[in-house]
Amino acid sequence: MRAIIIGIGQCGTKIADIFSLVDFEALAINTSKGDLEYLKHIPQDRRVLIGESIVGGKGVNANPVLGREAMKRDLPMVMRKIRSLVGYEDVDIFFLTFGFGGGTGAGGTPVLAEALKEEYPDSLVVAIGALPLKEEGIRPTINAAITIDKLSKIVDSIIAIDNNKLKESGEDISQAYERINYAIVERIASLLALIDVPGEQTLDASDLKFVLRAMGSFATVGYAKADASKVKSLSRLIVRSFENEGLYLDVNIESALYGLVAIHGPPEALKANEIFEALNELTERIRGKQIFRGFYPDPREREVEVVTLLSGIYESKSIEDIVVTAKRYAQEFMKAKEEGEIKKRQLLSGLPDFDDIYP
Ligand code: GDP
Repeated sequence: MRAIIIGIGQCGTKIADIFSLVDFEALAINTSKGDLEYLKHIPQDRRVLIGESIVGGKGVNANPVLGREAMKRDLPMVMRKIRSLVGYEDVDIFFLTFGFGGGTGAGGTPVLAEALKEEYPDSLVVAIGALPLKEEGIRPTINAAITIDKLSKIVDSIIAIDNNKLKESGEDISQAYERINYAIVERIASLLALIDVPGEQTLDASDLKFVLRAMGSFATVGYAKADASKVKSLSRLIVRSFENEGLYLDVNIESALYGLVAIHGPPEALKANEIFEALNELTERIRGKQIFRGFYPDPREREVEVVTLLSGIYESKSIEDIVVTAKRYAQEFMKAKEEGEIKKRQLLSGLPDFDDIYP
């Protein structure tokens, strides 16, 4: 299975850079020359500076309107770069990584997603975006809400990662981001590494593509791990990866259409009856009643690891909080603007013209 990772903006390119470290084909796109230079693993010829004619390589300062313009203006150059990376082999999935709350990623990702969908109609385009922290204030929340709306009409799935959920209290923000970025890449990379591995009950590319082809709804990843000698109940561990403590987004799992689960561990720990007990329970719980599964017994392993992908999610508290806050703010803002306008007109009405005073 072939996946290409395209990072957009600072958050997105940092995540793509880690994908590059673990040998994925990755491209970095940004309006900030400095941020592109700061990357460590993506080769120089796969770093694309956009919007130079607008912001001179200095970034868009969290303004998604500029981010969108930068991507639109340099789209022919970006697509040429992507074409040369793709070559003549098919791409199963383009993953676009970005931060929902900024400018380059929030503004540019929907533009690029649309162009990719048009040029590569047989490939999936999946957005992987980090949701802003509550303490960042209102602007990132608005950027996120508008970008969610735009992307949901274009991409196949939006894998949303809630920074609020993953940041530990008291943790320094840049350290938290770094840790979260590694966690995102590890989860997605370990899932992709298990696709098309030969074996009896394994996952193949068509399973993953089926699960991610979900009409622009939300998806998220989950994870649970334990020392094989300490696992009292494997079915409990599996269920945990689907519950809110294991997922990277607050969701109502009952609202999901599809699930995909990969279970990896020493053969004696992967007890079939416990696996089926958990998967039957979970299949019943989700609305779409379909969970694809892969078992990967590995005698070298000491830990049992469960990686989950839940998709076709229509109810998420993380997303609702953002959209409701942004809407409320927008309504209040428009109301304040209108009232201000009325007050201004009232105050200024009745004033004569210059000609009336100075005949
Ligand atoms: P852009 O360069 O204009 O697209 O903006 P950024 O990517 O810097 O920031 C966008 C948003 O992403 C911020 O509001 C943060 O919530 C989030 N963010 C920034 N950097 C990181 C990061 O490295 N990891 C994660 N998980 N989130 C980040």
